[in-house]
Amino acid sequence: MEKSYHMTPDEFRRYGRAVIDWIADYYEQVEKYPVMSQVQPGEIRARLPHAPPEHGEAFETILADVERLILPGITHWQSPNFFAYFPSNTSGPAILGELLSAGLGVQGMLWITSPACTELETHVLDWVAEMLDLPQTFRSTASGGGVIQDSASSATLCALLAARERALRNSSPKAKLRQRLVAYTSTQAHSSVEKAVRIAGLNPDNLRFIEVDDTYAMRPEALAQRVAADQAAGLLPFFVSATVGTTSSNAIDPLPQIGPICKQHDLWLHVDAAMSGTAALCPEYRFIHAGLEFADSYCFNPHKWMFTNFDCDCFYIARKADLIQALSVLPEYLRNQASESGAVIDYRDWQVPLGRRFRALKLWFVIRHYGIAGLQHHVRRHIELAQEFVRWVQDSPDFELAAPAPLNLVCFRHKAGDEFNRRLEDALNRSGKLYLTHTVLDGRYTLRLVVGQTQTEKQHVSAAWRQIQETAASLLSS
Ligand SMILES: *Cc1c(COP(=O)(O)O)cnc(C)c1O
Repeated sequence: MEKSYHMTPDEFRRYGRAVIDWIADYYEQVEKYPVMSQVQPGEIRARLPHAPPEHGEAFETILADVERLILPGITHWQSPNFFAYFPSNTSGPAILGELLSAGLGVQGMLWITSPACTELETHVLDWVAEMLDLPQTFRSTASGGGVIQDSASSATLCALLAARERALRNSSPKAKLRQRLVAYTSTQAHSSVEKAVRIAGLNPDNLRFIEVDDTYAMRPEALAQRVAADQAAGLLPFFVSATVGTTSSNAIDPLPQIGPICKQHDLWLHVDAAMSGTAALCPEYRFIHAGLEFADSYCFNPHKWMFTNFDCDCFYIARKADLIQALSVLPEYLRNQASESGAVIDYRDWQVPLGRRFRALKLWFVIRHYGIAGLQHHVRRHIELAQEFVRWVQDSPDFELAAPAPLNLVCFRHKAGDEFNRRLEDALNRSGKLYLTHTVLDGRYTLRLVVGQTQTEKQHVSAAWRQIQETAASLLSS
């Protein structure tokens, strides 16, 4: 036998079991850790050895160091007391699907590089389109189709690139016209829209942030006016990114009014439903997608609220040709018969990088483990719990709601003002008992509580509300 430093299959079996046990124990005990990591900047690095090891170390030592050195610097996104930002939840089947994907280690850039990687993805994305009752055009059986991106940010970038290509398809010289293209989104949209505009090389001054109404949703008449003004000024409006469930306050832009404006002016409509799209699993929440039939593209993240490990963004396009024309570049070394026959999908043409992981596996595991009914059950439960929290806030003499809470995100504040709410947030997060974050709405400091972590139950939301009230009372009396 040649000398080898590799882990043997037997060692892999043994340590693999140890890691699975470790994760299972972690999930059972996650509530004992402070939800938000309490370390200071530089504290974790200071404890790590200066130099990498010359000789390999025992796996037991490495795993023990995860507990000793790494865990203190972990913010526990998988704690049921995590109510910050947005959920980034996981589940047993998703973790195991992810592990299998790592084990197979395939590169799914072309159909030929692993046919199952492509075909399962196409199939599962059609399933998901059906589960959310998305418009028929988004199915692979029609003109469109779905693809898994790493993030909603990438989906928005791809949508923008496809829109840019479509807008300039029949014009030249393109470089000059490109500087006249104008994109639109609301003042409440996610920062990824602005980033996509920069990456796409558009004029950053040509991104219009359209005003919102008193529910923080885009005002369609303001959009129409701005588009008309830009056209009159000789500019080229081409792209609108609307949001279903804004990150800040869960506002839902009115697609039934925005859609016809886009159609009238031939603007690409992209719909970003990163967190909230998951709610459409339940028929009673499908109202959030009213008007989606006007959309050229759509995305939501199972890696936020559908029990699927990061990364997994489902991106749908109504006409796949738009996307492929924008992103397909074919060097000789990737040429193959299957691709040239046109009978297969090569997902490298649907995204920015060439290489891609087998991400459909974890999504397939999640859907098969829970079934539609299981997913609906947990999503409904999260929304119910958030709505219960809404009622507690409304009934409280000291707190108020700061925005409508259509689903699982509640924006609220103490009536004692911005500075007090800042101190309250800080004290709560330092307590380690829960973690929540803030936003600013109409210039006012606002606390946000999102219910969406896999293990969050009634007792956790009740305890959070109790902690919020008690902390506020003690801050007021000190
Ligand atoms: C979270 C979020 C994003 C960003 O998602 P990534 O997948 O991390 O890029 C974009 N838009 C909305 C509305 C979000 O809530």
